[in-house]
Amino acid sequence: MPEPIQLETKDGLYLPEADLWLDPHRKKSCAFVSHGHADHFARHDQILTSTPNAHLLRVRYNVTPTRLVPLNFHQPHQRKGFTILLFPAGHIYGSAMIHLTRKRDGATLLYTGDFKVRRGLTAEESVFRRADTLIMETTFGKPQFVFPTITEVSGDILNFVNTALEDGATPVLHAYSLGKAQEALAILTEARLPAVLNPATAKMTTACREAGAGLPQPVVFKGTVPPDTCLICPPNSLHKEEYKHVHNPRTAMLSGWALTPGARFRYRTDAIFPLSDHADFPGLLEAVNRVRPKRILTVHGFTQEFATELRRLNHDAWSIDGEDQLELALRV
Ligand SMILES: [Zn+2]
Repeated sequence: MPEPIQLETKDGLYLPEADLWLDPHRKKSCAFVSHGHADHFARHDQILTSTPNAHLLRVRYNVTPTRLVPLNFHQPHQRKGFTILLFPAGHIYGSAMIHLTRKRDGATLLYTGDFKVRRGLTAEESVFRRADTLIMETTFGKPQFVFPTITEVSGDILNFVNTALEDGATPVLHAYSLGKAQEALAILTEARLPAVLNPATAKMTTACREAGAGLPQPVVFKGTVPPDTCLICPPNSLHKEEYKHVHNPRTAMLSGWALTPGARFRYRTDAIFPLSDHADFPGLLEAVNRVRPKRILTVHGFTQEFATELRRLNHDAWSIDGEDQLELALRV
């Protein structure tokens, strides 16, 4: 059995043999950037990323094209004795997992970045590849997080929108500008409900379209919402000056955190729906079953809880930052 691919975790995730960082927060010489959310991005000298996400990074963060190494999904890339492959992560449009194979002995590693297993309406369907080592995000790594199907949650959102319109209110869907907003737009478009988007969200939607996403041309919000139309804008934005002419708004937040008690009050919205771009607890377990790893490291969210659950299921699983690392250190 080959030795595991080396991993250092001191200042983020680093693969010394491949000289490659994985979604580091601080600027590095060469890093894989899994997707376009800000908590996974920094201005690295060289950025390995998916071809669609390379476009999103250019638009969103003004990244100089010479710093980008865009890789097509499923297309091998050679680096320092490793074969690298990117697979869709299903999180948001362009999001990728990275799979490395050490050529001299065939050792493998998969880093998921943010991902979901269920197919959404806008992101590419996730593809899992077997690997000896799995590094996975566990944002919703507790058994209480079981999301309804996209059909169920879309139905609830559309009910909310239609009821608001019937009541003479303006339905407002609060969604982050990259990912959730495009998902909301796709849900409304399928139901032939028109929407206007705040400028930043419209810009990201256009960027996704340019990168290949099947989305309609966005209509930009310019201070008023036409009749029988929905507004899509980021959370907590309605108090801003540019929204003061929105007539009788009725708000809903779209977030996986809807499944936690009191979520609607925390977000201060009239409703909240569990539309998530992350895997729920069964989805996380399914990812492990598909990858069939020999060891698992958990990052983000309920890392220790999920690693504990995996050990209960006889996996060699540890959180990357948790106190169980002490146990891991004693073990090796
Ligand atoms: Zn993300």
